[in-house]
Amino acid sequence: MKPLSTVQAIRPADADDRPHEECGVVGFSGVPNAAEFAFLGLYSLQHRGQEAAGIVAVDDDGTARVHKDLGLVSDVFGPEAIQRLVGSTALGHVRYSTAGGGGARNAQPIVATYADGDLAVSHNGNLTNAIDLRRRLVEDGAIFQSTNDSEVIVHLMARSRHETIDHKVDDALSHLEGSFSIVFSVADTLYAARDSRGFRPLVLGRLGDGAVVASETCALDIVGADYVRDVEPGEVLKIRDGVVQNLRPLEPADRHAPCVFELVYFARPDSRLWGVSVDRARRRFGRQLAREHPVEAECVIPVPDSANSSALGYAEESGIPYELGLLRNHYVGRTFIKPSQADRDFGARMKYNPVREVVDGKRIIVVDDSLVRGTTSRSLAKFFRNAGAKEVHMRIASPPVQHPCFYGIDMPSREELIGSSRDVQQIREELGLDSLGYLSLDGMLDAVSEAGPFCDACFSGDYPAPLVDVDKGFAPGNRGPIC
Ligand code: AMP
Repeated sequence: MKPLSTVQAIRPADADDRPHEECGVVGFSGVPNAAEFAFLGLYSLQHRGQEAAGIVAVDDDGTARVHKDLGLVSDVFGPEAIQRLVGSTALGHVRYSTAGGGGARNAQPIVATYADGDLAVSHNGNLTNAIDLRRRLVEDGAIFQSTNDSEVIVHLMARSRHETIDHKVDDALSHLEGSFSIVFSVADTLYAARDSRGFRPLVLGRLGDGAVVASETCALDIVGADYVRDVEPGEVLKIRDGVVQNLRPLEPADRHAPCVFELVYFARPDSRLWGVSVDRARRRFGRQLAREHPVEAECVIPVPDSANSSALGYAEESGIPYELGLLRNHYVGRTFIKPSQADRDFGARMKYNPVREVVDGKRIIVVDDSLVRGTTSRSLAKFFRNAGAKEVHMRIASPPVQHPCFYGIDMPSREELIGSSRDVQQIREELGLDSLGYLSLDGMLDAVSEAGPFCDACFSGDYPAPLVDVDKGFAPGNRGPIC
């Protein structure tokens, strides 16, 4: 590739092409009708991405067939689509919806045919040098069809000068910086790898004589696969007909840095991540929160569903009864009905409604897993007061989010993060709360110390992997040309 200095800025920053890649991935090898299992796996990973879903299946001749579209897994795949996806190797992807999110062209897996056959890539994470790599590749003649990081990997594979496919895999992965838990296929061989810091989860399972890789253990449970182990940070697996083989690991990092926000918010509570039960981790956060920020009240109410476990922990530790005082509508989709642009609570009212009988005349403790912009808490404080709550005490089962994430969690810019420019009292006032308490950073990390050290950059500003694109001054949305 040519040196950076020869590369021109080609396309203005595009607000829709944000670098967030919150996703879920699955891969199956040596499993008859693998696409059916991939469908189920993705179904259980729906919480990791609701914008788009896709599956690629590879038959015995190495031919890849793809079906992907915008929408939920159950909307994108009907029986006919699954039947067309023939083969005992399959990989799948669900993508998170950001504002715009790049639309259908960014749906994964990405599929291409190159010298070694059909190549398909599913990627979870966010490369911090994707724009840099893209620009160099474009300068070298590459043509991109999407703005997602996976396509960079396709080009790196196709352009590698190494002889064997395994060496090309090694070469391509060694260019990547930032976070990636990736599953890809070359013909009917599956590869799976995790970046050397291990930001995003990836687990290995067994299904009969076949092998499974998935973002979370809940995807193993749904297909009846046995958990074998986590794919280690920097590990590169080659899987053929269900037989798992280790390739040369990636260059080790100075430290591992699994994302603590996966435990706080993103992962499902019935999953185990890095040897920790997500439910147990959240309960410990809640218990510690109760020790750090006790308050007299009649009940503890979770903001469902992501704070259910931490609120249980708070209730257990404080001895204050746990009450289901807030209902969440699980069927909220996009809606075109907006009563008034000035109605700032509209989004939250579509999603949440307090149970008057639980909160009326009470001092309540409301537990949420995190405070990002403060939008949810501001609305909830009003809803609870309107439903008769006497006092509203908010408890947050993580520290203030003060810094954006560059490793694959969708966080707004620093200016939009309510915790980045205000202290706790100012936030309490702004949100209209009687009191507000955050879990301390040490309290959170100590609660899950057996799985650390973690990446806690969104709380601490300590970024473990170099932010190459940011340091080079590339606008986050400017990923170069597409055609
Ligand atoms: P906010 O309303 O902006 O303060 O966001 C906090 C709420 O959004 C909490 O209820 C969280 O459960 C949820 N949340 C936190 N992080 C994310 C994320 N990356 N994507 C979507 N929702 C999130």
